[in-house]
Amino acid sequence: NSPKSSNIRPDMQRVLPGRIMGILAKAGEVAENLNYQVYAVGGLVRDVLLKVENLDVDLVVEGDGILMANKLAEVIGGRVRPHEKFGTAEILFPDGYWVDVVTARVEYYEYPAALPQVEQSSLKHDLYRRDFTINAMAVALNPGRFGELVDYFNGREDLQIGAIRVLHNLSFIEDPTRILRAIRFEQRYDMAVEPQTMRLIKEAVREKVIARLSTERMWGELKSILEESDPEHMLDRMSELGVWDYLFPEITFWEVQPVISEMPQALMILRNWGWAEPAEKWLPYFLAILHWTTQDTAHTICQRYFLGRRQTDKVLDTIAHWRAALKSLSATEDVPLSELTKIVQTLPREAYPLFLTLLEDKMAIRRFRLVMESVHRQKPSVNGKDIRGMGFKPGPMYRIALDALWRARLDGLISDRDEELAYVKAYLESRNAPKIETKQPEAVG
Ligand code: ATP
Repeated sequence: NSPKSSNIRPDMQRVLPGRIMGILAKAGEVAENLNYQVYAVGGLVRDVLLKVENLDVDLVVEGDGILMANKLAEVIGGRVRPHEKFGTAEILFPDGYWVDVVTARVEYYEYPAALPQVEQSSLKHDLYRRDFTINAMAVALNPGRFGELVDYFNGREDLQIGAIRVLHNLSFIEDPTRILRAIRFEQRYDMAVEPQTMRLIKEAVREKVIARLSTERMWGELKSILEESDPEHMLDRMSELGVWDYLFPEITFWEVQPVISEMPQALMILRNWGWAEPAEKWLPYFLAILHWTTQDTAHTICQRYFLGRRQTDKVLDTIAHWRAALKSLSATEDVPLSELTKIVQTLPREAYPLFLTLLEDKMAIRRFRLVMESVHRQKPSVNGKDIRGMGFKPGPMYRIALDALWRARLDGLISDRDEELAYVKAYLESRNAPKIETKQPEAVG
């Protein structure tokens, strides 16, 4: 059966940035010279059809993928990292961008007489191993066919009707991470897992296939969910389908759900207050999920997902301190800003969204905002170098003096650099901080 074809070059031109279009065109030319066929596949094709930008270039080559990657890198630049065993390679660019190249392999040499047929089917073979019909489309890149959509499994139609559909009945048994992926795509694109696929998911969950999955792979997909712009409905769906209990058996979803549902708004408010999105985009949600558990349980979960020391500490600090911080910000009496700041700073920055969802009254929220803004604004300009310039010996007193300065600024006792310098000097002198020794002239006599 031949795939439905149409040319989507105009859509590609509209949706994809010039840099990406350039790479795709060059890939086509390089493949043509090698007498290969090359295709862009997966997420990029899906998103072009949805008119959503996608910068992930995944190339499938009917031919030697590693040779193709090397030749392509000669034209577009970048360093090739080959994986000989799999016939795949990445082309890595200095700015962190990369292009994936894989070899579509079949019994290429077995049917020399029917080469075109076999070539076709080698791409089809590759696409058949993919998760859903909407992710199993390819677009041809060779100059004569550039933009030709290759759609063996009616992915385009499924995109149009909004259906997440597997390619065969054993899909979730073969790879249970696809259950999480189905949920992610369904909610991200506001589509629906079609009935037969849903039956297969339920069957797979009943048969506990997720328990057989390595925690690394599970964590990879979970992290992708927590990095989506709105994970709430994905987590809801995970709970509904009984998947949550495999990922967080220690945590009752309904206990953390109210906090999770307020996270998108909290994130938005914080961004308006100048809070910078952390590099680990998943961490704010992860903290929201874990904040209600004990230190021990949280530690077990962090270990299960191989979190590093730094990330684990952030989880444990959040659990250890959010209650006290909440109490101080919600106190009825006046607490000095410096005091509040000290308490808020026991929380990692990544916990601020969670923390904001926990603050109930307006007063507490105002105080939190004040803390955040003053931390931003009131950062003193005086530093260690300045203190050295005053002739004090480097040592622990530097930090203590700068902390005191910082609190004084927050409480509005000083307002400019001159006052800062005077404050630090007076502070250190009053505590007899040691001075840098200068050679004294020998006493004569
Ligand atoms: P995103 O926009 O989230 O990056 P994506 O579809 O590009 O979505 P990737 O995880 O980068 O997601 O995967 C790229 C392609 O690889 C998918 O489109 C799909 O064709 C295939 N793929 C990824 N994971 C699986 C899997 N577990 N099983 C089968 N195919 C997969």
